Amino acid sequence: MNSLYLKELTFWLLVLMMGLTPQAQANQDAPNPSFPSLVISTQIPGLIEVGSRMGVLTDASRSLTFDQASTKLSAWQAINRASPNFGFTTDAYWFRFQIDNITGQALPRLIELPIPFIDEVNFYHLAGDQLKTSYVLGDEKPFAQRIVKHQNFIMPVQLAPGLNQIYIRLASAGTIEAPFRMWDPERFHEANRDENLVQGVLIGILLIMVIYNLFVFFSTGDINYIFYILFVASYLLFHLTLTGFTFAYVWPNAVRWNSIAISTFIAGTGLFACLFANSFLKLKEFSRPAWILVNVLAAGCGVLVVLTFFLPYSLTVRLGAAVTIPVALTALVVGYWRWWRGASFARFYCLAWTSVLIGLGILDANKFGLIPSNIWTNNAPQMGIILLVVLLSFTLIDRMNHDRSQRVNAQAAALAHERKARAAQEAMIRLKEETNRQLEQRVKARTGELNQTLDQLQTANDRLLLLSTTDGLTQISNRAFFDNALATEHRRARRMGAPLGLIMFDIDHFKNINDTHGHLAGDACLKALAKLMRPWIHRAGDVLARYGGEEFVILLLGSNLESSAALAEKFRIAVEELQVAHEGHVIRMTASFGVACGVPDQQSNYQDFLATADKMLYKAKDSGRNCVRSSPMNHAVT
Ligand code: GH3
Ligand code: MG
Ligand code: MG
Repeated sequence: MNSLYLKELTFWLLVLMMGLTPQAQANQDAPNPSFPSLVISTQIPGLIEVGSRMGVLTDASRSLTFDQASTKLSAWQAINRASPNFGFTTDAYWFRFQIDNITGQALPRLIELPIPFIDEVNFYHLAGDQLKTSYVLGDEKPFAQRIVKHQNFIMPVQLAPGLNQIYIRLASAGTIEAPFRMWDPERFHEANRDENLVQGVLIGILLIMVIYNLFVFFSTGDINYIFYILFVASYLLFHLTLTGFTFAYVWPNAVRWNSIAISTFIAGTGLFACLFANSFLKLKEFSRPAWILVNVLAAGCGVLVVLTFFLPYSLTVRLGAAVTIPVALTALVVGYWRWWRGASFARFYCLAWTSVLIGLGILDANKFGLIPSNIWTNNAPQMGIILLVVLLSFTLIDRMNHDRSQRVNAQAAALAHERKARAAQEAMIRLKEETNRQLEQRVKARTGELNQTLDQLQTANDRLLLLSTTDGLTQISNRAFFDNALATEHRRARRMGAPLGLIMFDIDHFKNINDTHGHLAGDACLKALAKLMRPWIHRAGDVLARYGGEEFVILLLGSNLESSAALAEKFRIAVEELQVAHEGHVIRMTASFGVACGVPDQQSNYQDFLATADKMLYKAKDSGRNCVRSSPMNHAVT
């Protein structure tokens, strides 16, 4: 249907059929010296596909002139295919056909060669053996020199009534195809509008994908987007150059660049397809051999990009086309491999490359006549490419989602871990607290026990102290306690200059009581005596003690001789009046009292008090017993 697609279609077909021998096709055509003829009447359609109705002459030397070619009748052959295609060739080709204009009037027509990258296009129009028009075209001339400013070669002719002969010579460093068409100018412009619309849609989609993904790259910083963008941009530029748009609109004077740009962009497309596959599929981690293979292909394409500027186009375009197949196949195969081995993010990637291959396959089947040629089959590779570009963009988003969900999962896992760790930590803290509490309780219990023990010890000590200072029989203080108290109070009284009184008394003839009533009766008397005396000795610091046997002492603080002696007298009477009942008997007794009293001076010590009191006691015994004898201290005692 439209020529722009056709030439790209043809290019891709060439790529697929690299291994075949395209030049042989022309030679298979049978020799046909007769001049192929078209008849134009008023009913003739606005478009005639001339390609299959031409004669062809191969000029391997590329040196034939128009006169030589037109007269070499035996060398001309017929073409039997819709789209004459001679593949990569260095030969020059001559084509001819004649038009019988039976309308009787001159007709304007446009002859179109929809292959914009042919180096040399020479056009000759003869009417009645007379050269009417000739053009020298080709993409080696600046775009401005085109007769019709169109990306394809458009050659206007004014068909004279009667026979018109057309000769066209094509020569190129790349491929040669000759799908010539003859247009009614009006139809051409209509069809051109449609084609431009379709091209615009294709280019627009590719351009939008480039720009959109560029923005995505700016916001995500994902390097895959750069490879993707460069891949699509390279392909877009390849497409634009192949269709002649770049030469028409972008670099109309860059003839040299235009002649190599196709190679450069094919190699670039291959390079970025490899880099994208490598990066997107994470081949380095996935498979070392796959990674190396893709890198080798990428390096090859990269080197080729550079070489396109130095080596002849005829060579680099072959290399470029040749490398396209392994690149596309590798990209596809590693994609499926990756998917098969569990990388679900590769699914759109695989779908994308599959759609291109299906597109090319449909084209191929179409070309070999396996399926009918229509708008869908003719546009299959373009739709495949659009699908590739759109699906690859999906692929990127898909992987971003995949990565994000993985990240979210990882985050959730990390969160769960953290929660677990925190729970463990809390359990640990609780355990610690519990342990501390138990420990505290134990310490408390132990402290309680210890305090109890200490209390018991204190009680025992107190008891021991009491026992050690108490007389067992009478339960009053013993001699040791008394001696200690006397020494202390003596020092205090000496310091204070206070008087100190000491009464010492001894039961009279106690031996008799023991002898008469028994020892237990004696004990009972001693207890009764202590009980009698105890209430009398109630002032703080005063001490009543059993000094030994049936001998008692009383320490009186701050008491002078008179009052001490008076107290002794009171005691004497009380003892005398005491009646001790024991085993049915009443035992009575008397006691003798010795009293010593005075303010202790520096020379005296407490033994002096004891000695004086003792002396006074003996004095009382000597004086007939049951009486009181007293003496002040610091006086000679006789
Ligand atoms: P004197 O009037 O001279 O003091 O005569 P005495 O018999 O009281 O004196 P002596 O020192 O000769 O006798 C004291 C007796 O007291 C001897 C001893 O058996 C008795 N005695 C000493 N301690 C106790 C005691 O704890 N219980 C009893 N039952 N008798 C005791
Ligand atoms: Mg006695
Ligand atoms: Mg005695």
